Amino acid sequence: MTVSASDSEATPMRPVLSVVPAAPERRVVVIGGGIAGLAAAHFVATESRGTLGVTVLEAGPRVGGKLATAEVAGVTVDSGAEAMQSTRPEAVSLARAVGLERDIVHPEVFGASLWLGDRLRRMPPTVMGVPTDLRALAAAQVLGARSLLTLPLEYARPATRFDGDVSVGAFVESRLGRDLVETLVEPLLGGVYAGRADALSLEATVPMLFRELRGESSLLRAAERTARGGGRRAGARRGPIFAGIRGGVGRLPQAVAADLVDRGAVVRTDAVVRSLHRVDDRWRIIVASGDQGEVLEAEEIILAVPPHQASALLTHVSPSAANDLGLIDMSSMAIVTLAYPAEAVPPLSGSGFLVPPNQGRTLKAANYATSKWDWIAREARTRRGRDDALVVIRASVGRLGEEDAWQRSDSDLVSDVHAELADAIGIRDLPVDRTVTRWRDAIPQYATGHVRRVERIRSAVAGIPDLEICGAAFDGVGVAAVIGSARTAARGVLSRSGRAAAVAH
Ligand SMILES: Cc1cc2nc3c(=O)[nH]c(=O)nc-3n(C[C@H](O)[C@H](O)[C@H](O)COP(=O)(O)OP(=O)(O)OC[C@H]3O[C@@H](n4cnc5c(N)ncnc54)[C@H](O)[C@@H]3O)c2cc1C
Repeated sequence: MTVSASDSEATPMRPVLSVVPAAPERRVVVIGGGIAGLAAAHFVATESRGTLGVTVLEAGPRVGGKLATAEVAGVTVDSGAEAMQSTRPEAVSLARAVGLERDIVHPEVFGASLWLGDRLRRMPPTVMGVPTDLRALAAAQVLGARSLLTLPLEYARPATRFDGDVSVGAFVESRLGRDLVETLVEPLLGGVYAGRADALSLEATVPMLFRELRGESSLLRAAERTARGGGRRAGARRGPIFAGIRGGVGRLPQAVAADLVDRGAVVRTDAVVRSLHRVDDRWRIIVASGDQGEVLEAEEIILAVPPHQASALLTHVSPSAANDLGLIDMSSMAIVTLAYPAEAVPPLSGSGFLVPPNQGRTLKAANYATSKWDWIAREARTRRGRDDALVVIRASVGRLGEEDAWQRSDSDLVSDVHAELADAIGIRDLPVDRTVTRWRDAIPQYATGHVRRVERIRSAVAGIPDLEICGAAFDGVGVAAVIGSARTAARGVLSRSGRAAAVAH
């Protein structure tokens, strides 16, 4: 049995080899080798066709940030993000562009449950917890009779007025009651943001629902319309809502980095950017690499680090952007992945379950990895032989403000998670292996006012020459949205370099 634990570091991977590019006219340094930085570098490198010199500087020992893989009982699993939204094109397109087309897969099972009281109940259809089918909601038996009876009255109630932004919790409570917020909205927001409904912004966390509410008094009708739209964006293929990658979404950053190196870019790990200075129309970048210090120069910078690190690097460059970035709260969590002998686990239904915070459990969510992803099920079978398969369950622990939950020792976390899984699903034996990955400052919290804050940050950054910023703090925390923000940043660099080239010739 092995237990691996680390702060934001799963299985260490070999640093990516770098090659020195031919001296191009303009140098672009991307700070941060998470998926935002790598994607931004990819767009710049591919669309400038080698005319820009691209260097990615990553502080950690591996690229990928919150995309990483680990092993449990010899089976590879994602220890960070495990699914990419495929109703928008960015993530799946990037995976295809770097040679992973044949490895893009979709979940085998759909539908999660809620762990309420003493049993699992099928989750009714919702948009971030707002029901889209009242009959299905009643059939799911997740709300009390009183709440259920009053819900249809909401269709006829006048619009709720609010000034500026409002929290999801306050708004949904004002329309549909506290019971529904606690039971349905909290677990979904906990799953995506590891955050709480009363703090998270309606406009920033459920933008499509927010848009439907313009000119629509009823939240239920707005949710129904949002669901009919399917959350699809232009360019997205129809089909499943989520995609994974055979071998783990954690392979995506490795593939992007390898492709960058093939194109002549430099990808460096263990390169911590300490400060940024604007000197004579150029950027001077102070980098610490082991016990060595180094100064790099570049014409363009793309800042793709989490908000507090971005705040520190912008302190002197843009105090106002630094201030706003520093005020974005981050939630932390732990992913506990357990492998059980298949015979110890009763048949599982759906992809997993969510747990509302008011249930007093350690678990926030559990995902049946071997049910959900065929590639994990195959690995689990081949590791132990067809007749001796494993069931792998990935549990997550910790929401904003629940520091005690994810910071407990590995053995406490594993034993609590196992006890609750045994209680919820009826597991009859101990796990044969487990792995724990802690993610400190994992997910930016889009608190009320976040959209205005992002506008202020972007406008301050736009006032600084040759600087772009991207990452999970801006246009959505999901992998696809983060890649979208990287595309926007790359466009800024490419349009300036186009102008610079036009001036030079
Ligand atoms: C446990 C977990 C599960 C998730 N599950 C999903 C999911 O299933 N689906 C989904 O769509 N999203 C999911 N997410 C969200 C998604 O993974 C992240 O929002 C996204 O990967 C963030 O990418 P990023 O590049 O913006 O930031 P990061 O991944 O944080 O990358 C930033 C990088 O910058 C580096 N850095 C920081 N400071 C410096 C410096 N000074 N110099 C150089 N480098 C620096 C860091 O080391 C890091 O590698 C999950 C997140 C977590 C934590």
